[in-house]
Amino acid sequence: MFCNQCEQTANGTGCVDAGVCGKDPDMQSLQETLLYGVKGLAAYANHARRLGKTDEEVSAFIEEALFATVTNVNFDLDSLLELVLDCGRINLKVMEMLDAGHTEKFGAPAPTTVYEGTKAGPGILVTGHDMLDMSDLLQQAAGAGVNVYTHGEMLPAHSYPKLREHEHLAGHFGTAWQNQYIEFSQFTGPIVATTNCVLVPWESYKDRLFTTRVTAVPGGTRLKDNDFSQVIEMAKQCPPLPDNKTGESTIGFHHSVILGLADKVVEAVKSGEIKHFYVIGGCDGAESGRNYFTKFAQSTPEESVILTLGCGKFRIRDHEYGTVAGLPRLLDMGQCNDAYGAIRVATGLAEAFDCGVNDLPLTLVISWFEQKAVAVLLTLLHLGIKGIRLGPAPPAFISPNVFKILQDKFDLKLVESEPPQELFQLSTN
Ligand code: SF4
Ligand code: SF4
Repeated sequence: MFCNQCEQTANGTGCVDAGVCGKDPDMQSLQETLLYGVKGLAAYANHARRLGKTDEEVSAFIEEALFATVTNVNFDLDSLLELVLDCGRINLKVMEMLDAGHTEKFGAPAPTTVYEGTKAGPGILVTGHDMLDMSDLLQQAAGAGVNVYTHGEMLPAHSYPKLREHEHLAGHFGTAWQNQYIEFSQFTGPIVATTNCVLVPWESYKDRLFTTRVTAVPGGTRLKDNDFSQVIEMAKQCPPLPDNKTGESTIGFHHSVILGLADKVVEAVKSGEIKHFYVIGGCDGAESGRNYFTKFAQSTPEESVILTLGCGKFRIRDHEYGTVAGLPRLLDMGQCNDAYGAIRVATGLAEAFDCGVNDLPLTLVISWFEQKAVAVLLTLLHLGIKGIRLGPAPPAFISPNVFKILQDKFDLKLVESEPPQELFQLSTN
């Protein structure tokens, strides 16, 4: 453990093996898990607030959870675990608010084919998760002769009708956040980072990097309001992008799309055409261990459907998975917050089969990186979903004892060095 949050901290530097106050490593572990989960849900709540969605219970929980981590307030493992799981419950509510905010403002996502690469002419690249920034920029750039491209987690913007209707939303460029040094250097126009995950920029593009509101980096230009005029002007001055199509992809499998096909999906499961569902997604990152998720997806059998979301999708989408029951086998549900949609699909299927989510032929393999992923994991645990595989590395803030509690209670597993082949043998369903 490490804690230096109060004046009595050991040796004036930090409590490491035990707290001067009496806090032990497991209490510290649960307090940190709560803190990180709250940070994640606060990020989602902030997006939802910008879309006009707020909730008093959410605000009260954030206060209560932070209060519980103040010195000499809570030394009780059971009540801390209760708060940790409640963080998952509140995060489910927040993701639902965000989903409603997006669909009310921009329309319900629909399956959409996205041009990948660049088109000849000036362009602006937008990364991060904030669809409202994208909407404001698209409106302000209308008629300016400048194309707008999505990067990373902004890819789902193409699936929202009120964003897609802008003809200058020209395509998608690039992959997940960890590749931005190379990709932002290659993109000749200005770049707008609306949220995480943005990296401290390289010299090669820092003068072209704009950030919005709380997002800020040294050398970049921070926009505190929704005025994108400097970005649009810079795009006109920068060297134009080449006409370079690198491919196309289909996205936009929102929960309303998949549940709209529920009868067809249920029939396909009953007939054995679909034997299993895999949720493979979450965050991406630079570690080589993340190839596990690529191998996992490519090992899934033909009679299965893969639901993916978050930037973890960039690890698995460059592969031809084919179709099953008339559906693409790989269904891109959107951003990391669209884990809400995967939960809606799982609970919808459980209702259709009159069983619990844990009784479904469903395997969850979650890649995590930052604190929104922690909030999503806590939501899955709050729902009692068992047998989740988490990777590529264990969260350092979860102590061995707390991990054991989560294993015993939820059968939480860490990813193996290689995906276990028995997970792809579908003799039973
Ligand atoms: S809160 Fe407890 S563990 Fe943390 S610095 Fe203070 S005495 Fe140490
Ligand atoms: S899914 Fe996670 S890692 Fe990826 S961009 Fe979003 S917040 Fe960052």
